[in-house]
Amino acid sequence: MGVFDTIGTERHQSVHFGADPDTGLRSIIAIHSTVLGPALGGTRFYPYASEENALYDVLRLAKGMTYKAACAGLALGGGKAVIIGDPATSGTDDLFRSYGRFVDGLGGQYITAEDVGTTVADMEVVATRTDHVRGLTIEHGGSGDPSPATARGVVVAQKAVATMLWGSEDLTGTRVAIKGVGKVGMSLARRLSALGADVIVADVNPAATELASVELGVKVVDVDEIHHVECEIFAPCALGGDLNERSIPELRCIAVVGSANNQLATEPDGDRLRAAGILYAPDFVVNAGGIINIAAEQGGYSIEKAAVMIDRIFDNLTEILTTADRLDIGTHTAAEHVAEERIAAAAALEAERDLGT
Ligand code: NAD
Repeated sequence: MGVFDTIGTERHQSVHFGADPDTGLRSIIAIHSTVLGPALGGTRFYPYASEENALYDVLRLAKGMTYKAACAGLALGGGKAVIIGDPATSGTDDLFRSYGRFVDGLGGQYITAEDVGTTVADMEVVATRTDHVRGLTIEHGGSGDPSPATARGVVVAQKAVATMLWGSEDLTGTRVAIKGVGKVGMSLARRLSALGADVIVADVNPAATELASVELGVKVVDVDEIHHVECEIFAPCALGGDLNERSIPELRCIAVVGSANNQLATEPDGDRLRAAGILYAPDFVVNAGGIINIAAEQGGYSIEKAAVMIDRIFDNLTEILTTADRLDIGTHTAAEHVAEERIAAAAALEAERDLGT
C-alpha cells in the first residue's frame, strides 16, 4: 500500500515529515483529527527497524489519542509524533531544538508532550523553540508528573465499575490485584489501601513489591500468579497485552480496570472477556487521568481543578458501560462508538456554522 492509501485508511487528517541532517532528526507527526480541538499526543523516540514501521506506529498512536480525548470529553483532537533513533545516543539538545522548530511550524494544530523515550527535560528543550508543548514541570508552568493523576482516574473508574456491578462505589474490602507497582500502580495501591480495599500486588522488580509490602502491608504474589488471583478487580498497570487468549481463561476476577495501555493483546480478546462474563473497562478510558491533567493546564493549572476534571471519568465510563449494555456490544467497541458520536456531533456543529456564514 502506498503512503496516501495508508494515511487514508483510518482517515488521518495529515502527516508531516521533519528531517534535519545537521542534528540527525528524522521525525513524523501524524494528526488524526482536530475536530474537537488541537491534536495532543506525546513524542515517542524509538529505534524503529524501518521508516515504514515508524509511520505505522505514529498513525496507530495518533488515532488512539483521538478516541482517548473524545471519551474523556476534552476539547482536544488526536495526534502523535515519533522520532526515529536511539534516545540514549541521538537525543541531543540540538536535536530537540530542531524538533521544536518542526512542531512550531505546524502552528499549534499539534501539541506535543513526553512519551516513551523522551523526558520532561527533553520537552523543556523543545519548549525553547515552540509554545506547543504540555506536561512540563510545575516550576515551568506545566502540570508535572501525570502518574498520580492517572492513578486517581483508575480509582474513579473502579468506583464507577463497582457502582455498576454492586450498586455502591464503596471499595472497602474489595479485592484488587495490581500487576505492576511502578509510578501509577504504587500510587493506585496507596489510594486503594487508604480506602480500605484488600490489595494484592506483583512486579518483576523486587524493590517495587518490597516498597508496597513494607509501606502498605499488602500481599505480594508472583508475576505469573497475579492474573489468576481470586479477586473482584484485576488492575493491569505494567505493560500491554496482559489480556490474551492464554490469560483470559485463567482470570478469576469480575472486572478488569487498570492503567496499562493496550491491555487487549488482540481485538477479539475484548469479546473473549465478554464471553467469560468479565467486565472490561477500556484502558484508554480508565487511564485518561494523565491527558486530562495536561488538559487542565489550559487557563492555568491547579491540582484541585485537575481533580474535578479527572473525576468526570466516572460519568464517562458509566456512559460507555451502559452503551455497551444497551447495544449488546463489547465495552471496547462501545467506547469507540461514544467517541465517534462525540466527534460526529462536533463535526455537524462545525458544518452548520459553515452553512450559516
Ligand atoms: P512504570 O514503568 O513506572 O511502572 C511499570 C511497572 O511494571 C514497573 O514497576 C515494572 O517493573 C513493572 N513490570 C514490567 N513488566 C512487568 C511484568 N511482566 N509483570 C509485572 N510487573 C511488570 O510505568 P507507569 O508510568 O506506572 O505506567 C504503567 C502503565 O500505565 C503503562 O502501561 C503505561 O503506558 C500506562 N499509563 C501510564 C500513565 C502515566 O501517567 N504514567 C498514563 C497512561 C497510561
